[in-house]
Amino acid sequence: VASESMDIVESLNPEQRLAVKGQGVPLLIEAGPGTGKTRTLTARIAWLIRDQGVAPGTILALTFTNRAAGEMQERLNTLLPGQQGSVWAGTFHRFCLMVLKEYAGFKGFIVDDPARKEMLNQAVAHADVALSSALLDRTISMAKQHCLGPEDDLTKIAPPGLDKQDLVRVARVWQVYQEHLAALDLVDFDDLIAMVINLFNTDSALVATIRGRFAHILVDEYQDVNKGQYLLIGQLAGNGRGLVVIGDPDQSIYGFRGSDNRYFQQFQADYPGAEKIVLQRNYRSTEAILRASFQLLTHGNQEGVSQKVFSDIRGRERLVIIEATSDRAEAVVVGKRIETLVGGLSMFSMDAGKVGSTQENEFSFADVAVLYRTRRQGKIFADVFQQAGIPFQMADKESLLNHPGIGELVSLLRLLKGGATFQDLFLVFNHFKAGAGKGTRQKLGQWFRESELSPAGAVELLGAAPFVHVRKDIAETLLGVARKIMALGQTVQGLGACDCLDLLASKADLYPLIKSDETSCRVFDRLLGDARNRDDDISCFLESLSLENDSESLWPSAEKVTLMTMHGAKGLEYPVVFVTGCEPGLIPFAFPGREPEDIDEERRLFYVAMTRARDILCLTYSTKRRIYGITRQTGPSTFLLDIEAALKEHNHNRYQGKKKKPCEKQLDLFQ
Ligand code: ATP
Ligand code: MG
Repeated sequence: VASESMDIVESLNPEQRLAVKGQGVPLLIEAGPGTGKTRTLTARIAWLIRDQGVAPGTILALTFTNRAAGEMQERLNTLLPGQQGSVWAGTFHRFCLMVLKEYAGFKGFIVDDPARKEMLNQAVAHADVALSSALLDRTISMAKQHCLGPEDDLTKIAPPGLDKQDLVRVARVWQVYQEHLAALDLVDFDDLIAMVINLFNTDSALVATIRGRFAHILVDEYQDVNKGQYLLIGQLAGNGRGLVVIGDPDQSIYGFRGSDNRYFQQFQADYPGAEKIVLQRNYRSTEAILRASFQLLTHGNQEGVSQKVFSDIRGRERLVIIEATSDRAEAVVVGKRIETLVGGLSMFSMDAGKVGSTQENEFSFADVAVLYRTRRQGKIFADVFQQAGIPFQMADKESLLNHPGIGELVSLLRLLKGGATFQDLFLVFNHFKAGAGKGTRQKLGQWFRESELSPAGAVELLGAAPFVHVRKDIAETLLGVARKIMALGQTVQGLGACDCLDLLASKADLYPLIKSDETSCRVFDRLLGDARNRDDDISCFLESLSLENDSESLWPSAEKVTLMTMHGAKGLEYPVVFVTGCEPGLIPFAFPGREPEDIDEERRLFYVAMTRARDILCLTYSTKRRIYGITRQTGPSTFLLDIEAALKEHNHNRYQGKKKKPCEKQLDLFQ
């Protein structure tokens, strides 16, 4: 450990070292993928503490995911063991929640995504307007990210297709939605940042306190900040003396959610005297992968544009391009390739083709990531891999928590500890076989609304006396269930998160449900493991869960293939990457019959996806795909044409499954 700690700075290249040691002026580090931006950021923190004697508690590191923050903390712990106090590292959202709780007495909870959508639907119904809730969702979220409120002019941020009248409707629904949230002590993700900005705007003493606490502020992935985050950093950083921001404008991929890489570009104007450091050596990908990615980024330009990033890593000289005949066939082909690369024998391996020309079997399942543009595609891979026995994990928090027994458990926890919505309540009721009927549900719903009850309050009232608005036998059941829920609350009083999870699962008869489903078992184990490791009380545990995002729903060290969206893969790296569905409509993404909304951002997203790969990059597409219920003929994405032929090895795996060898029988499943 001592020698590694000596190496924090020494192992870096000269430019990275400059970035670590730059002091006294605001710093902008602009560099392409895999150039060690995130590594440099960690090294800087370690250097500040070890060589500059900076107190860890005065360092604030804002990262894009909590996982990135966790990895940074871990690395710092090894580099600097026995350190007093700790660096504050986490996402903007976690930071804002911390500020609200520690400095503003905030006691609310964060609403999760399914509940948020449900509440928006309710608000739409309540305000009685005819607008798609998806469009509403997007508009409201976009407005919040631009720090606007329902009373503001929304024309600038409105998605196409909404006229002035529509925007008046949006504002109405938004107000109702906000009231519903407030009634349940809930806020959504976007609210958190806006709340802190407002707080800072009205309380300059607090701003001074926080500035006093954090003398060093480091921000990773600065190219993807939105207006709220940008303003927040401005408030925190003051004149910017202790500010370091790191990013790559070519990787900005969240414009559809309000991010704007102009903030990155104007950093030196915002902070006069700021220095800019450029990193150019890529330590991640082979030269071929990097060259292909760069050609994609520059629309196939090979001459005249100087490549911003270079790599000395030699390896396979070509990317593999695979054509399949359907979306399922694509998943089968990818599965076969993975089997070949990993070298295990399964039914797939029997006729699997070769990837590249060098030796196989050098990879493990954990080395492989399968990326796709839309979540829907992920389900096909999950299905096919499941049947083929390929171990995988899917970065999709929502669908993980939806597995049998897990959703019920989390809902029950929220009901007992705060942050529950009526959806949680009904899920728990259903589990206990009460109030399942639509009529009862409606009556209860109406009663909740009229009496302005919280879900927990409703349980208390239902447990106090039989509910009069329903049939007597139903009322009795409800009474019993409400009392049972309250008794469970008593039982777990004062327990740590881990014991609480275990006891609730057993007392609420959730174990049979959990054990009935393989994924449920894994999710439950992971939740237990997290709870044990962190030694939190259950409220902290729930809070962390609510702050998690997709990529954090992964098991970091699992021996499994990772399935995730291209967006989710930001900042990560894998030895083998499959970018799938490389077809117009998906890449670049466009709704049927429409043009892509922001083709440049789609291009950058593809660039991000490609540059996750270290050794092997496979781009796959299908000649036929079912989208929105319609099967259409497709072909390779125009983006693929931007990569020169010499860098591509075509593998048209026309997997039809028509002529069957005996061992292929089971593959019938995949057609
Ligand atoms: P992205 O833009 O994708 O977020 P990044 O610029 O943040 O990439 P890192 O993830 O920090 O890049 O680094 C990429 C890889 O290169 C990592 O595996 C990292 O450990 C390695 N690396 C970075 N700098 C060095 C170095 N000086 N020596 C050896 N390895 C390095
Ligand atoms: Mg990074």
